[in-house]
Amino acid sequence: MSIELLKNAIRDVPDFPKPGIVFKDITPVLHDPQLLRLSVDLFAERHTGQHIDKIAVIDARGFIFGSALAYTLGVGLVPIRKPGKLPYKVIEESYELEYGTNTLAVHVDAFEEGDSVVIVDDLLATGGTAQAAVALVERLGANVRELDVLVELSFLNGREKLEGVNVYSPIVF
Ligand code: AMP
Repeated sequence: MSIELLKNAIRDVPDFPKPGIVFKDITPVLHDPQLLRLSVDLFAERHTGQHIDKIAVIDARGFIFGSALAYTLGVGLVPIRKPGKLPYKVIEESYELEYGTNTLAVHVDAFEEGDSVVIVDDLLATGGTAQAAVALVERLGANVRELDVLVELSFLNGREKLEGVNVYSPIVF
């Protein structure tokens, strides 16, 4: 199983969710047991021997890979969610999109001071989502050890918004 096979399995869906966007559909990776395992293993290998306290997963496709990673590493999971989804007290971060804004939220008691946290999402595009997730983790006194994404759209320069954050992306377009 190679990263090339993983990359080839990602399906382009033009004009989704709106005209002009080429959506990188990771569901063919999920459908294939070996590719799904490889995706999680690639992330897990990054953190063998590291002390990680929590895996923070970004709504919604980050949940898939991140929960498998947390299970594999034997650490806890923190959902970072769209507004109105988490039932307890939250802090929120808003970020700019091409048109309008988005917001992410996390429970106020999700991290302990000084926790070492890995953030997981499926894809890094403009970086706004990841930047908001980093801000939420740091506002609660925890430290971002790494941002792990399966796919990076490097032409959108998301890393520029993430100065000082280690970013790992096995598949780059
Ligand atoms: P951004 O905030 O621009 O980095 O967008 C990243 C978030 O939006 C991730 O949670 C992705 O799942 C989703 N996303 C953005 N662009 C795409 C795309 N072209 N294909 C698939 N997902 C995308």
